[in-house]
Amino acid sequence: MSESLATVSYIGATILFILSLGGLSNPETSRRGNLFGMVGMTIAVLATIFGPRVTLAGVPWIVGAMLVGGSVGLIAAKKVQMTQMPELVALMHSLVGLAACLVGFASYIDTSIVFAGAEKAIHELEIYVGIYIGAVTFSGSLIAFGKLSGKIGGKPMLLPGRHVINGIAALAVIFFGYYLLQAHSPQEGATALIVMTVIGLLFGIHMVMAIGGADMPVVVSMLNSYSGWAAAATGFMLSNDLLIVVGALVGSSGAILSYIMCRAMNRNFISVIAGGFGTGDSAKPAAGGAAAPAGEVNPITAQETAELLKESKKVIIVPGYGMAVAQAQHTVYEITQLLRGKGVNVRFGIHPVAGRMPGHMNVLLAEAKVPYDIVMEMDELNDDFPDTDVSIVIGANDIVNPAAEDDPTSPIAGMPVLQVWKAKSSIVMKRSMASGYAGVDNPLFYKDNNRMLFGDAKKMLDEVLTALKT
Ligand code: NDP
Repeated sequence: MSESLATVSYIGATILFILSLGGLSNPETSRRGNLFGMVGMTIAVLATIFGPRVTLAGVPWIVGAMLVGGSVGLIAAKKVQMTQMPELVALMHSLVGLAACLVGFASYIDTSIVFAGAEKAIHELEIYVGIYIGAVTFSGSLIAFGKLSGKIGGKPMLLPGRHVINGIAALAVIFFGYYLLQAHSPQEGATALIVMTVIGLLFGIHMVMAIGGADMPVVVSMLNSYSGWAAAATGFMLSNDLLIVVGALVGSSGAILSYIMCRAMNRNFISVIAGGFGTGDSAKPAAGGAAAPAGEVNPITAQETAELLKESKKVIIVPGYGMAVAQAQHTVYEITQLLRGKGVNVRFGIHPVAGRMPGHMNVLLAEAKVPYDIVMEMDELNDDFPDTDVSIVIGANDIVNPAAEDDPTSPIAGMPVLQVWKAKSSIVMKRSMASGYAGVDNPLFYKDNNRMLFGDAKKMLDEVLTALKT
């Protein structure tokens, strides 16, 4: 393939990636968006393999690597449960970071192209920055994987003088960058690169370990952004325009998502990165652990829930992580259909950080074929709760916690929440009194107009459905 055809293919792929991102911003166009992305990626891969920069001798290596990587990806994607998707995404981000590091070292020791003067300095700077971003992304994403999968506790790890440690690390990175540019031999330069890589790896671990459970959504989208910048840096090292553009697209869209997440949680981006959120005295220890009882709760049966729903005119359903665990979305849809058939106005309230990844609930509800027009964002329907007969919380906890509004000492104070308690009655469906991801007790459970439907969400909803039908 000629140079110009490869360039045209790259431009085509870039346009498809932009269309893909545009499509993914809306549930109704997301399938088309995915398709654009797949076609764009196929064109990009083919144009690279058959492009002018790959020799025939290199093709078997590339095909071999694609077969191994593709098989691992296929097996992982087939095996992974929907609830493990956030962990898988974190692992994928770590691989982008690792790739940036490896490409950086390979570019540094590659002697096939000799740079001199300013070009040499720019090339080495690209390598240095690329490896640094890659190292932070790699180790940070691995820790995020550990936290999301529960292998590492959600509580922030706060070293004494952590800001000073980070400051010294930043100065050291700048110093070794200068050292690399001044290096008299490749060995001296490699030493600077290795020391900086170790600092980058430690910084990634330290940064994510210091971030509390409730701030994890921001970290997930921030690492997504980092992985984009790592890919862009790789593009600079390899002088590959497509990688630069695609990396910048992922990097900037991840940054915008982080901003949206911060706004959704009423948090300042800098304080999220500085870590420590969720360490107030009132913070309960381990995420997911049992919170201390703070009053009496009123249980309800599935039969009684069905009776209450039958008498309602307006119902709001708030799904959370537990709905994903129980895979209850299809039963939720059946109940919704049945109630709508009886003339009940049923809507869904989606919190921006519900579940364990951005858009988690929207994906589940779309999979169950819940119509998009009754799936509303938090801001769109928070004012409607006082006018609602029943709000049903399905496996959600932190996102409906009134302490975020009422208790300034709460670790989640200031986070906007769905005000389900303002409905005439609220029903919380969960298995026990355990706390949610942020590890905070929930006063909603003890409110007079709240009832608790204890049990696995799928099992309880099946019982509610049966009771509704009879
Ligand atoms: P939470 O983690 O706060 O609560 C989920 C609840 O579901 C638990 O209290 C649990 O209680 C219940 N549950 C678990 N399994 C089942 C089941 N099989 N049947 C019924 N209930 C079940 O989830 P939310 O969605 O309310 O909030 C999301 C939290 O995750 C926020 O703190 C957010 O910051 C954080 N987060 C979000 C990310 C994102 O991008 N969206 C990323 C990382 C973290 P029990 O054990 O008693 O059943």
